[in-house]
Parts: sequence; structure tokens; C-alpha cells
Amino acid sequence: MTDATLPPPPEPGERLSFDPEQDVLAEAEALIDGAAEAVDITPLDHSRRLLLVHAHPDDETIGTGASMARYASENVLVTLVTCTLGEEGEVLVPELEHLAADREDGLGQHRIGELAAAMEALRVTDHRFLGGPGRWRDSGMMGTPANERADCFWQAPFDEAVRELVAVYREVRPHVVVTYDEDGGYGHPDHLQAHRVTVAAFDAAADPSYAPELGESWQARKLYWTAIPKSLLQAGIDALKEQGQTDFFGVDSADDLPFGVPDEVVTTEVDGSAHLDAKVAAMRAHKTQIAVDGPFFALSNGVGQQAFGREHYILARGERGPGDGPDGRETDLFAGL
Ligand SMILES: [Zn+2]
Repeated sequence: MTDATLPPPPEPGERLSFDPEQDVLAEAEALIDGAAEAVDITPLDHSRRLLLVHAHPDDETIGTGASMARYASENVLVTLVTCTLGEEGEVLVPELEHLAADREDGLGQHRIGELAAAMEALRVTDHRFLGGPGRWRDSGMMGTPANERADCFWQAPFDEAVRELVAVYREVRPHVVVTYDEDGGYGHPDHLQAHRVTVAAFDAAADPSYAPELGESWQARKLYWTAIPKSLLQAGIDALKEQGQTDFFGVDSADDLPFGVPDEVVTTEVDGSAHLDAKVAAMRAHKTQIAVDGPFFALSNGVGQQAFGREHYILARGERGPGDGPDGRETDLFAGL
């Protein structure tokens, strides 16, 4: 920084105002802006482009982190859009519990930094928040007061959210788009809303008569849902049992979990196991959210490792490409393009 960019010194007697929360937010935003500027994200310089729409910081890493790291390493333009700051999340680190929504309500700002660190671990340089950081708030679970707030994503004016995402589609021109299925994976309102907005924007972005001021229309070629095959969940449960852990969401059988899909509906399996270290580092970056002694870290070691580096998807739109995975699954989100 040169002297010219420094703020003027305070006048004698002037009080310096200092708002730590604003400082943290500004710092995190500068980090994000800096990252975007430091790298080349001119979309057309990348022959393959992938857009992922997730609800909260950490969803991208848990569900799709290995794929993101793999594609980023292959010079695919990987763009992450996160719809909320995850303000309503539980805080798993005791010394940061004061940030919780029912106390200082500073978790969202903190998670901007966690997400930026996670993206650094995955080498994903283009990450944004839908409508800008803090535009829509974490909706909490259905039926809670957080879900009634006018500023939460669940209550967002649908057209406005779609419009924000269409602007991203038309800027980065993704060939492949990834989000959750119509149940939002497990029914969290922000995941459901992310699904709805992403699907609506997929079509609207391709319609030249829709908001031409947002740029030239763009038809993405494939749309995928994230998925966890039941057999993989069961393998995870069994692997944890072998390690003496029995607290994988407190169940014995994958059939008792609210997520997980029948194996036969999975169309695509991306092997990101070469990038497992990056995924684990990104999980560590989300330290208020993912307990280091919890099931995710236990799974990322030893017997669960094989399962953890493989991520699964269901093709929802577009043409299925050739695949040599199990049951003829595609092994590449760009297969056939
Ligand atoms: Zn989430």
C-alpha cells in the first residue's frame, strides 16, 4: 500500500471510530475481491466452465469439494455461488460461540473468511455470494423464527434472486451447472430455494427476451443434482462402526437417513480422491461448522477415504455422456460435451 491510499490522519481531538465487525467484513471482502483480481477469470479463456450453486458456506466442500479441486486443477473455470452466509449455523468452536445468531450474531461475517480460506485450499478463485455478501440471510430450519425473517433467503423475492443468478450465468457462461435436487438434498429451506432459483435461472438465462440488459443469453448444456448413493452412506456408517464410532447422525442404516438416493438413479461419479487432501484442508477451514472429531473427519481417514473422495451426481437436464464408471456411470461432469 502506498501513502496515497492511506486515509487522512485524524484531526486533533477527533475520535477514531472502530467497529470490529465491520473491519472483519471489510477485510474478508477485500480478500475475496483480491482473489478475483489476482487471477484470470475471463470466462472465455477457459474451454470448460462449471457453476455450482450452494446454500451455505461449507456445503460446497462437504458435497462437492473434491470435484471442485479436481476441475480447478484441470484449468476448468470453477465458479461457486453461495446463497447465504450461514448465519444460523451452530458454532462448534467454544471460543467462537459468542458469534452465534442468538448472541452477537456475527457468524455470517466470520464464515465469509472461512469460505475464502476453504476456496484457497481447493484452488477455486471465483466464488461469490448471490446478490453480494449478506444480501440474503440463512433461513434456519422450517418453522423457526429465523425462517420468518423478511431478509432470509426463503422469503427472498423469487424473481430478484433468479435475476441475480441469471447475471452470473450470463457472465461466466457455464457449460455445466450443479445444485441440489428438488428436496434440497435433505429439506433445508435454503437448499430447496437454491434448487428452485438455479433451475429457474438455467432457463431464464437462455431466454433472449429475459432481462437483455444482463447480457447475452446463455444456454448451459447440463444440469446436475448432487447425490449420495445409499450404498456409500452405508459404507460410511460401517466404516465408522469399525473405528468404534457410532454417532454418524445416530443411525445404523442408511435407510434411516433423510438424505441418500437409490444407487441406480446416480448417473455420474467423479473421482476426486487425488484431491482428498485439499478437501480435508477446506473442511478444516470451516472450523466453526465441521467438528474435527466428528464423522466427516473420521471418514476422511482410513477406510472411509475411498468413499470420501468420490462425489456423485444425477443428471437432470442435458444429454448423458458416455461413461465407464460402475453401471455405466459418467466419470466426468463434462462427458459428451
Ligand atoms: Zn447447507
